[in-house]
Amino acid sequence: MRLSKMYMPTLREVPQDAEVPSHQLLLRAAMIMKNAAGVYSYLPLGYRVIRKIEAIVREEMDAIGGQEVLMSPLQSKEIWEQSGRWDVYGPEMFKLKDRHNRDFCLGPTAEEYFTTLMKDSVTSYKQLPMNLYQIQTKYRDEKRPRFGVTRAREFIMKDAYTFDRDIPSMEKSYAEIWKAYEKIFNRMALHYTIVAGDAGAMGGNSSHEFIALSEVGEGVIAYNDESGYAATDEKCQVVYPVDESEVLLNMEEKYTPNATSIEAVAKFLGKATNKCLKALAYMAAGKLVLVFIPGDRELNETKLIHYLGIAEHELYFADEQSIAFSGAVAGFTGPVGLKGVRMIGDSRISKMRNLIAGANKKDAHWVNVNYGRDFECELVDDLLMVQEGDVCPLSGKPLSLARGIEVGNIFQLGQKYSSALKAAFLDENGKEQFFWMGSYGVGITRSMAAVIEQYHDEKGIIWPLSVAPYHVIITLINDRDETQAALAEKIYNELREKGVEVLFDDRKERPGIKFNDRDLIGIPLRVTVGKKAGEGIVEYSTRNEMENVNLSLSELYTQIEKELKEY
Ligand code: ATP
Ligand code: MG
Repeated sequence: MRLSKMYMPTLREVPQDAEVPSHQLLLRAAMIMKNAAGVYSYLPLGYRVIRKIEAIVREEMDAIGGQEVLMSPLQSKEIWEQSGRWDVYGPEMFKLKDRHNRDFCLGPTAEEYFTTLMKDSVTSYKQLPMNLYQIQTKYRDEKRPRFGVTRAREFIMKDAYTFDRDIPSMEKSYAEIWKAYEKIFNRMALHYTIVAGDAGAMGGNSSHEFIALSEVGEGVIAYNDESGYAATDEKCQVVYPVDESEVLLNMEEKYTPNATSIEAVAKFLGKATNKCLKALAYMAAGKLVLVFIPGDRELNETKLIHYLGIAEHELYFADEQSIAFSGAVAGFTGPVGLKGVRMIGDSRISKMRNLIAGANKKDAHWVNVNYGRDFECELVDDLLMVQEGDVCPLSGKPLSLARGIEVGNIFQLGQKYSSALKAAFLDENGKEQFFWMGSYGVGITRSMAAVIEQYHDEKGIIWPLSVAPYHVIITLINDRDETQAALAEKIYNELREKGVEVLFDDRKERPGIKFNDRDLIGIPLRVTVGKKAGEGIVEYSTRNEMENVNLSLSELYTQIEKELKEY
């Protein structure tokens, strides 16, 4: 491709609202263009990257017997009602009506739809396992679309669904996809870890996430290399040791003016924050719930949502009025003496001794509050968010925390969808069984951003060869020099004949501009045709190392061939 003909409106300035490198560079390198918040178009260079990533995914899915289909993103309400997810999915789902007032959504995922594919069409265990996938645009009206294509409202996902006859074969399918995903992300040259994830609204019990490590990632993972434990922060089991040895003291009310935070009350009473009971007031599916955890910890909302069995969007902070209605007082909320309101506590609070808790009166706290004697509530094993300094639940050794971008997610769904949609087959005894399912996603467009987060410098993107929009870029230094122009043209043609993907910067621009663009768009292999063209010598460098060497054409071709063989 000749750059003189290419649609490539690169930007000099860093776009205002782009916070992370991948977002800035995708915009600056004219790979994507913003249409609306979280909605992007893919421009020629960017779309080539997308197609490379899709090709990798396709090859590895096909290699394990996946069959590609393409379903409509337009899905009818009925199937979502059958699975019970029409309401559960909540405001993240784009809903629309047709002219006959029938309800549809733009698919955020497609478990229901794929289950209907199987229903009545695959009727015997002999036809199983089945592995179907698609690479398709998904729609999610994200609460906080940000970081460009990393958290978009319209994005490309590869979603796969497996259907099996029993649990062992479902686990086998899961393991196969796991292996395929390792190959996929290795081929993209991503540095990633695989961690236990939260099955969330998807249902089912086992789930793993493939996390591309990146400091700007929204995901947090906790791991210990020795024990092999690795989980997302949402999932990570928190070990919180408690000293149970203290003798129970008598409860006493203390005047605590304006001490509405844990820090303030602890400071005022001269105690540590872990002697305080933290109270959080939520509305959960329309009802007030008070949650109590150790004062020095944060609540893990995902764990609470699981325990409550509600959808994510059904949980939000209660306002002062709702809190007051229960007899509690915002800022001075505690469990002692409260009646008629649902109270839930992390199990550890039942063992902690002589706690400080709000007295449900302005400017007052109880001290020496003890579970069992002074209050009771529903106890949940673990409601805490992992934090720095926590230990591994397997080995007791320190956990490490890291940030990353979730690029893939795999779930064992069990029979959640097949039973809801009554999708069954006949087993070897002629008995009806619901399919055992798995579902598996790869964020195609998000992967592109994740690669950039791991491969860039202050000048631009450094594409790995496997996903680069082109392999080679030829920079013609002086387009008015006939020798230079003729040599560059010759190399351009010869490389293309060899099947190399080449960009030819034949623009009538100053070399500085050409070099800047070249660094920005990140083509891995570079050929500069300049002063030594008369001797048949060109400069060769890689985007990664930037060091120029002089090569003859035959040396150049050998070098490029070698590079292309290696990735
Ligand atoms: P997240 O926790 O980041 O919201 P998710 O758990 O909702 O992700 P899945 O439903 O498992 O994501 O979707 C499968 C894959 O699709 C994810 O692993 C991710 O790579 C990609 N993906 C999900 N949401 C988005 C989005 N808003 N923009 C771009 N890619 C996304
Ligand atoms: Mg999500």
